[in-house]
Amino acid sequence: MTVWEAVIGIETHVELSTESKMFCSCPADAEGEPNTACCPVCLALPGALPVPNGKAIEGILKIGLALDCDINESSIFYRKNYFYPDLPKNYQISQYTFPVCEHGHIEIDVDGASVRIGITRVHMEEDTGKSTHVGDGDGRIHGADHTLLDFNRAGIPLVEIVTEPDIRTSQEARAYGAELQRIVLALGVSDAKLEAGSMRFDVNVSVRPVGAKELGTRTETKNVNSLRSVQRTIDYEIDRQIKVLEAGGEVRLETRHWNENTGVTTSMRTKEESEDYRYFQDPDLLPLEVTPAWQSEIRSGLPELPAITRARLATLGADMIAAGVLADSSDLAALFEEAVEAGASGRAAGIWLTGEVVAYTRRSDVAVLETGLTGGRLAELTAMVEAGKLSSSAAKKVLIAVLEGEGSPEEIAESKELLQVSDITAIEAAIDHVLAENADAVDKIRGGDMKPFGFLVGQVMRQMGGRADPKVVRDLLTDRTAG
Ligand code: ADP
Ligand code: MG
Ligand code: ZN
Repeated sequence: MTVWEAVIGIETHVELSTESKMFCSCPADAEGEPNTACCPVCLALPGALPVPNGKAIEGILKIGLALDCDINESSIFYRKNYFYPDLPKNYQISQYTFPVCEHGHIEIDVDGASVRIGITRVHMEEDTGKSTHVGDGDGRIHGADHTLLDFNRAGIPLVEIVTEPDIRTSQEARAYGAELQRIVLALGVSDAKLEAGSMRFDVNVSVRPVGAKELGTRTETKNVNSLRSVQRTIDYEIDRQIKVLEAGGEVRLETRHWNENTGVTTSMRTKEESEDYRYFQDPDLLPLEVTPAWQSEIRSGLPELPAITRARLATLGADMIAAGVLADSSDLAALFEEAVEAGASGRAAGIWLTGEVVAYTRRSDVAVLETGLTGGRLAELTAMVEAGKLSSSAAKKVLIAVLEGEGSPEEIAESKELLQVSDITAIEAAIDHVLAENADAVDKIRGGDMKPFGFLVGQVMRQMGGRADPKVVRDLLTDRTAG
């Protein structure tokens, strides 16, 4: 029986959130009334000439540098020729040889192991307009009565990021998509909203017998718009292709469509080869020069990247999972750092923040910076737990009250009478009382039957109004009931 291995490469489109479009000064905001953000350039009226958007080039350079790419000092715009009604020029301005960025890589973490995925290229292009197919086709062109066209999106700067076929599992693919989204968000170059299509994935999948050197024939499933769908699409395709091959068939090089509702991919068309697009250099656009000075200016302005943030938070004591959650939210990360600065253990602060605090902000739909929690207060809380002044359930109550803005942990614990009694004499008095009333239980224990021990602990805790440290109670009771 053949053992199969999957080979996966991902192309990602990211719409940049610049103010204006890629080659004209129309607003790059596709949300307005249809066809209100258009001009002769993005509608391709005769004689209109494109002018590249400097901010968009800055955006792609940020992405390329964050992915450790080489930057081509001179890169070229091409025309990618094809007809589609949402493409007024009948070609898309894109890049082909000499893209802005090449030969990068990204490190992802899968089940605690680091996996390196090569980035083939990061190139600059422009988005198409948007077609809405009206009628019985369920939104698709087949069966539609007519099609509405909105060119507001036509010409919005689009960056395409292409990986090497280095990905081996759907889980790695998902982790790649998630990390890329984090990087883009950290750079602030796009809102990277998967559900709104400002970030979308084309997934290329093939299978081959384990150990084979050559790649199998791939399929490309276009415009997958959630991380979960990326994973499901790939799982489906791997399974489908293996079945085809095991039945003696061949996988066809084709473009496929993922249907979220049925959970299957279906064939859209045989895949076009790049020769089909008759790429040629756009005669309206000069080569794009990126000087070393511009590059280093952008490099020095890059923010801290998510992987670095995670590593830094981990060195402050957060465990891996907490570091990941904290790094995704600059507010949580800031509170965490403040708490550690104020003396909290990173481990404890990370657990509280990513557990109870996140749960509270979700439940109450409030931003964490709008609650009463500060790093100092979190440090105070963790110190009280460590010193045995608060039980873990009391600490939760105190934390909620802090979040609600009721004051500092010390104040709240006192006013709500949640402080644990560590005063041994008070606990011993309670034990005396309980033992006197339960002489038979004590006899049993001394006779070797430990069953009533838990009952005695419960009685002492009750006597203490729940405010004794159960560990102290247990230790004292053990001494007192020893034979
Ligand atoms: P195209 O635009 O024709 O899809 P690209 O070069 O832009 O071509 O992207 C091809 C993508 O497919 C890359 O991510 C690449 O790693 C991936 N790929 C190429 N060959 C295979 C293969 N046999 N199996 C899986 N992925 C592949
Ligand atoms: Mg492709
Ligand atoms: Zn325009």
